[in-house]
Amino acid sequence: MMRQYELVERVQRYKPDVNEALLNRAYVYAMQKHGHQKRASGDPYFSHPLEVAAILTDMHMDESTIAVALLHDTIEDTTATRAEIDELFGPDMGKLVEGLTKLKKLDLVSKKAEQAENLRKLLLAISEDVRVLLVKLADRLHNMRTLDHVPEAKRLRIAEETMEIYAPLAGRMGMQGMREELEELAFRQINPEAYRTVTERLAGIFEKNRGVVVEIETSLSALFDKYGIVAEVKSRQKKPWSVFRKMEAKALSFEQLSDIFGFRAVVDTVEDCYRALGAIHTTWSMVPGRFKDYISTPKQNDYRSIHTTIVGPSRQRIELQIRTRDMNNVAEYGVAVHALYKDTGGKVNGSTPAISKETNAYAWLRRTIEQLAEGDNPEDFLENTRLELFQDQVFCFTPKGMLIALPRGAIPIDFAYAVHTDVGDTCVGAKVNGRIMPLMTELKNGDEVEIIRSKAQVPPAAWESMVVTGKARAAIRRATKNAIRKQFSGLGLRILERAFERAGKSFSKEALKPVLHRLARKDIEDVLSSVGRGELASADVLTAVFPDYKDERVTQPAPKQREEGWFNLRNAAGMLFQLPGRAARKGKAEPGLREGAVPIRGVRGDLPVRFAEEGAVPGDRIVGIVQPGSGITIYPIQSPSLQAFDDQPERWIDVRWDIDEHNKERFPARISVTAINAPGSLAEITQVIAVNDANIHMLSMIRTAPDFTEMLIDLEVWDLKHLSRLLTQLKENSSVSDARRVNG
Ligand code: MN
Repeated sequence: MMRQYELVERVQRYKPDVNEALLNRAYVYAMQKHGHQKRASGDPYFSHPLEVAAILTDMHMDESTIAVALLHDTIEDTTATRAEIDELFGPDMGKLVEGLTKLKKLDLVSKKAEQAENLRKLLLAISEDVRVLLVKLADRLHNMRTLDHVPEAKRLRIAEETMEIYAPLAGRMGMQGMREELEELAFRQINPEAYRTVTERLAGIFEKNRGVVVEIETSLSALFDKYGIVAEVKSRQKKPWSVFRKMEAKALSFEQLSDIFGFRAVVDTVEDCYRALGAIHTTWSMVPGRFKDYISTPKQNDYRSIHTTIVGPSRQRIELQIRTRDMNNVAEYGVAVHALYKDTGGKVNGSTPAISKETNAYAWLRRTIEQLAEGDNPEDFLENTRLELFQDQVFCFTPKGMLIALPRGAIPIDFAYAVHTDVGDTCVGAKVNGRIMPLMTELKNGDEVEIIRSKAQVPPAAWESMVVTGKARAAIRRATKNAIRKQFSGLGLRILERAFERAGKSFSKEALKPVLHRLARKDIEDVLSSVGRGELASADVLTAVFPDYKDERVTQPAPKQREEGWFNLRNAAGMLFQLPGRAARKGKAEPGLREGAVPIRGVRGDLPVRFAEEGAVPGDRIVGIVQPGSGITIYPIQSPSLQAFDDQPERWIDVRWDIDEHNKERFPARISVTAINAPGSLAEITQVIAVNDANIHMLSMIRTAPDFTEMLIDLEVWDLKHLSRLLTQLKENSSVSDARRVNG
């Protein structure tokens, strides 16, 4: 295992002013945390982060990246915490290590081929910092190098994932060396037979052509010498995986592959590249259509080089790349080069700071994310706008590892509906990353979401305005409609039962069947909900079922007509009540207005305080809205009226109740009661209210139909408990079909 000083020395070789203390601290901390943990191979666990760090020193990464590599498994696998790392290494390092912890969780997720592209995007979206991604790739590379100790089934899964996700990612980040090694290691696991065959044949060909290869190298070097160009010439052999893929893709046999060998000339300057090219093209003939100048037109991932194919000294085709040393570094290490070298043409910057948004590497990462929105063809990307789509997305997981892509701003309800409409309809709660969270929580990339369900649930209509996905919205609307229909048919059933009873007839749903056509309704449910909605009178149903029945009752005058004056109501015991109608209320003090001693804390000075129309009672969470020139209005926090002030935060003030148990004051609340029209039902309602010690301040009929009436009642009650008890009792009353707080 590499010693502490050896690691420091490695970094010093390319970065003389390395922060040794940081490396030493990270080394000791990670070693202590991993303690006696072992890897599958039996090696001490700490050897793994150490090797990952070593891979990154090969890529000449700065000490912060190396330190993150040493720490990368501590939060996930040891007693280390983010807080502890923040304290010891600073929050920037803590953030990077946590980023890796999040990525590690993705390893547990089942990765189907069709999810690979999304997963690559997710990796990038989570990474944010290019160093996280580099450590992740180095981590994967070391795990692939030591894969033989892992059980076979797991081995295959890791290899496939490497082939589908990590190797292409390394490639798109311009790290060709990393890409090739990952592909080779994965190929060996996924298709051992093919791997062995291709490797053996390649070795055979190389053996056979050794002389030719040396000959070409020598002639190229001699040519460059002649022209006074300093160049390093190297031969290059195709890798087994790329040979195999080419054979498969083009259905070629091994013998048909022409470009097993390639040569590369690395020169000092850009001018040298073109001089070298001139020397070659004037000496040997070039193969038409194979010339590419990526120096004047670099690839999207910053790759620059000249490619050409010539007919060489022994009449064989030779693939040749010409590039500078800097270009070669970019080709080998891609984004990693930018992570250390700043925009200075490749010179090492002694005091390379942490990657900021201004550095090339950050720009690189952004660009890579953009490219990932596309397939392998960078040209296509330019004409495509899918990038925007991707930036607007978050990727979350089900507990079973299914990846769900959602628009940004999505909440667990959207997630539930994205999984399945049934899941959405029965959703009552959610765990995000194992913790119960409000259903309105905005989801983040990589969140694991578990939906808590209940069969009894009906999606509340209010959800419709909370969700962001069309699917969820449509499903909620549908479910709400169904629920309302059910409610109305329940109400209709009760209305009909009562109407029949009053007429001395017995009611059964079956009796409706033969008269459906006469009522112009398609089924029994339809009859019930029509009656419930007030579209069909119970008397009409009664006469349809019993054509001989004569309704002798005098039609009850609609209470609405009395609204202008005072209501005279009698309760069941015959007591007379008088209630003011709308007209009578005019000119009186506004019911909610209270000047002076209002038992609310948080209100400044002597501002007059009033309650919003719908009232507010102790127990409600409340908020005050400043009304310029007229004081403060108190709203229950759930009041939809508050939306009007959303964009005026300066008008909101925090207030709370200041009440003790000796409170002798009452507070306003507005309720809505739907009553079945029957003699005495209104009296029954006022009776319930009176018995419950609540004052009626105002009562108005807002909707009347032959069979039921909906009324608004402004009450004065002691507190929320009092109000809830009253509502419960109202609902239990047989004359009442619904009673609820308005905006409650
Ligand atoms: Mn690891």
